[in-house]
Amino acid sequence: MSPRKAFVAGWPVAHSRSPLIHRFWLDRHGIDGDYVAEAVPPDSLSVFLRQFAAHGYVGGNVTLPHKEAAFRACRHATPVAKRLGAVNTLWLADDALHGDNTDVHGFTANLDDRAPAWRRGSNALVIGAGGASRAILQALIEARFETILVLNRTLSRAAALADHFGGPVRSGGFDELPRALPHAHLVVNATSAELEGEAALAIDWSAARADAIAADLVYVPLMTPFLRAAAARGLTSVDGLGMLLHQAVPGFERWFGIRPAVDAELRRLVIADLGK
Ligand code: NAP
Repeated sequence: MSPRKAFVAGWPVAHSRSPLIHRFWLDRHGIDGDYVAEAVPPDSLSVFLRQFAAHGYVGGNVTLPHKEAAFRACRHATPVAKRLGAVNTLWLADDALHGDNTDVHGFTANLDDRAPAWRRGSNALVIGAGGASRAILQALIEARFETILVLNRTLSRAAALADHFGGPVRSGGFDELPRALPHAHLVVNATSAELEGEAALAIDWSAARADAIAADLVYVPLMTPFLRAAAARGLTSVDGLGMLLHQAVPGFERWFGIRPAVDAELRRLVIADLGK
């Protein structure tokens, strides 16, 4: 039998740590397979998705900027992918392209791992309203949070998310931070901004609940200014690396047939690579 092979397609893709993660698991489980980064420009994506099986791939991941276009190319998508309008995990079944979005699972599994008390919370503050924020809102809705306030620099993007998700999701601008923070059990940074030095985003953590949890999606650096300030206030802080590791689990299981573990050895390997 020829080795099974999966890909991560992005543009650019050189920075992706997914090959490191999946090759670690392939090696650990003694699987004859590979996982390869494919630089695919946006105007080549549809051809790539039609032809990857001919190049020996059983499936793969897509990363920025392909998640929405890949969703549109799928004949079948999981309910969570349909809700988000984006996929990051692809496979073929019955000659048809299938897609899933595992970012929701990645976020949830990381919090379950690092700060299990998050599930007792009911009030969340999400800063940022980009693509990643959609997965966070979906995760918080599934975890039955009663109030989810999404704050963004560009108000209209936060408002569009509140319209899309409805229910417990409300939107606002950064000026709402001081009023909302004292009520939040969970505060998530889903922006790509370095919060330190951004006057509009300066968070006065002294007003936060003593049992609040701070989570960042960013993992370079691992300890972001956002997390450092929360930790200095004594709050539980959860970095974004675990989300990256956990979102990879369902894809590996689908392509290679074994559900892999996210553990300290894998974390150490990726942290060492981030430091290069
Ligand atoms: P995106 O769609 O480009 O959205 C970026 C967000 O950051 C927007 O809300 C944007 O606000 C905000 N922002 C950017 N610069 C800002 C600034 N100077 N001040 C205030 N807000 C600013 O990006 P994304 O895909 O949602 O990703 C967001 C972050 O999450 C990225 O750093 C990404 O690497 C990380 N991420 C991590 C994982 C993981 O597995 N750990 C997964 C997905 C994403 P405007 O709308 O006002 O522009």
